[in-house]
Amino acid sequence: MATLEVVERKSTCVLDCPDTCSLTVTVEDGRVVKLDGSRDNEITAGYICGKVRHFTELVYGEDRVRYPAVRSGPKGSGQFRRATWDEALDIVVQRLQAIRHEHGGEAILPLCYGGSNGWLTHGPLDLRLFHRLGASRLARTLCAAATAAASTGLYGKMPGVAYDDYPQARLIIVWGCNPAVSGIHLVPYLRRAKENGAKLVVVDPRRTPLARQADLHLAVRPGTDLPVALSMINGLFESGRADLGFLSAHARNTEALRDRARAWSYGRAADVAGVAAADIERLTRLYADSTPAVVRCGWGIERNRNGGSAVAAVLALPAVAGKFGVRGGGFTMSNSFAWDMDPAAAACEPPPATRLINMNRVGEALAPGFAPPIRALFVYDCNPLATLPAQTKVRAGLAREDLFTIVHEQVLTDTARYADVLLPATTFLEHNELKRSYGAISLEWIDPVIEPVGEARPNYWLFAELCRRLGVARPGEPETPAELMRAIVATSRDGARIAADLERTGRAAPACGDRPVLFVDVFPATPDRKIDLCPAALDREAPAGLYGYTADPATGAFPLSLISPSTSDAISSTLYQRVRKQVPVGIHPADAAARGVADGDPVRVFNGAGEVRCVAEINDELRPGVAMLPKGLWAKHTANGQTANALAPDTLTDLGAGACFNDARVEIRPV
Ligand code: SF4
Repeated sequence: MATLEVVERKSTCVLDCPDTCSLTVTVEDGRVVKLDGSRDNEITAGYICGKVRHFTELVYGEDRVRYPAVRSGPKGSGQFRRATWDEALDIVVQRLQAIRHEHGGEAILPLCYGGSNGWLTHGPLDLRLFHRLGASRLARTLCAAATAAASTGLYGKMPGVAYDDYPQARLIIVWGCNPAVSGIHLVPYLRRAKENGAKLVVVDPRRTPLARQADLHLAVRPGTDLPVALSMINGLFESGRADLGFLSAHARNTEALRDRARAWSYGRAADVAGVAAADIERLTRLYADSTPAVVRCGWGIERNRNGGSAVAAVLALPAVAGKFGVRGGGFTMSNSFAWDMDPAAAACEPPPATRLINMNRVGEALAPGFAPPIRALFVYDCNPLATLPAQTKVRAGLAREDLFTIVHEQVLTDTARYADVLLPATTFLEHNELKRSYGAISLEWIDPVIEPVGEARPNYWLFAELCRRLGVARPGEPETPAELMRAIVATSRDGARIAADLERTGRAAPACGDRPVLFVDVFPATPDRKIDLCPAALDREAPAGLYGYTADPATGAFPLSLISPSTSDAISSTLYQRVRKQVPVGIHPADAAARGVADGDPVRVFNGAGEVRCVAEINDELRPGVAMLPKGLWAKHTANGQTANALAPDTLTDLGAGACFNDARVEIRPV
């Protein structure tokens, strides 16, 4: 009897998670049978989350897209006939050429996000194609747009405190994030810090497991982080605890920030946020008294009308209180800011001056009356029907008979069911990737561990092929994974050393190292290396001015705040193919009682934009007035195929034009 070949191969998880775990992948006769954490990366520490432990269910599951296919039934039916790559690409090329000839390049819209992609499959060759076709450009603002605008506005691209340094801190504030489900490897560092005597504070509308362990939990109303942070800033100044020496040496526009914070006493902020004024005051005193102190600023803060200003105010706190300059002191936002590379510049010329369409408004852009109309939609690295706000409009757009839709996907998502041409995409186990972490400070070169499943092809192969077939490729341009890696790394000031490290070890750290002390090893990447506490550009951009608060959008008809956080089942919509059961809406016991809703009752969750039919789950972890449906759900997860995104407005954050998912205001009634 022939023996099976069993090998262990190294990989790295590229999914949209700060941790970028190093993996040991067991491959048996060319097939992945197990994924586990390795110790190549100290932060992974030999374990990974349950989501990726089950990743083989995506790779080999019944939903996997294995072959190119052409639509054979009504739009959205998910009925396809198998095609060859040549046939599918011929159709794509003919239709794109015809649309471009008849309606112009801007009639083509690429639709992607790419949080679960590295630099080889998101950014270089796709942009080469679409820029040269003169396609409409996409503002990729679904997530992290407001946080990026705020943090780079104040600090430029400056990395933050590394996870490894959290045990040095005496106080840790986890603000607007839930590392137990998104970024699990921070949790042991928090535990170690607590064992060392650190205090832990959590700011979150939910009493999460971490909040239960905290010394102080501020269960703020969604969208009110801004007043809380401003009242802390005001309190620091008013009590004489602001570090005026640090501010004078390292910051600009301190007075402008102080003036805007002055309006927010603890009492006023507490009224708006629905917490006790004494608790905000206690947190401010604790913060002033604790060194080192670190704020873990999460993406939950940004997803509302005040999101950009709220992130700016939270990130201003360590400057005002003088918390930089020591190991474990300052903030952590996105550590992807440690890198200065530009994958688009490595692949093609600057973008053309074609129209820019915000991805949060794609529903509008696909609607009748949008001029000139979009005639071709190329979806990749993205499941917009599950992830974009204003889901009803997005679905109506995808159903348009006059819209030619190409989808390059790994599994048959809700969006893929609307494809005219469906193209099979590889997973990170099947292609090369270059990935920078946004939690740990590292850059990883990743080799495939198995051959592509079926006829799946990586996105860099697809777009190189389309560049050739559409006549926009140029001789000598980087195209293979190794060529692209070298070209991308060469855009860094430190490119030669990084390329050598990647080729030698598969990993590289930035020039500042992987555990920089803020204001010792790294400084703001602003022109004068100072923090700008009130940048003029942000002040112009925010409708109410930077740090201006816009009131809650609740109405008498729709009084409940619907939040849509991550869960331990999926990463946004990725991996939800494996969850077959329906998902309940969480509701606080008092809100349920007031509506005559019992646990398990079928309910309608609705507002002017849509309605979700599901069952209720009584959840006393929520604060009263807040309901919860996880983000990224698929149509199969509710009784009527609509999800929280059908209730989310397509309004935009004050900075960065990001999504306002947590500004959904709803009513819940028994069915
Ligand atoms: S999703 Fe995050 S925690 Fe899970 S394996 Fe990937 S990087 Fe690690």
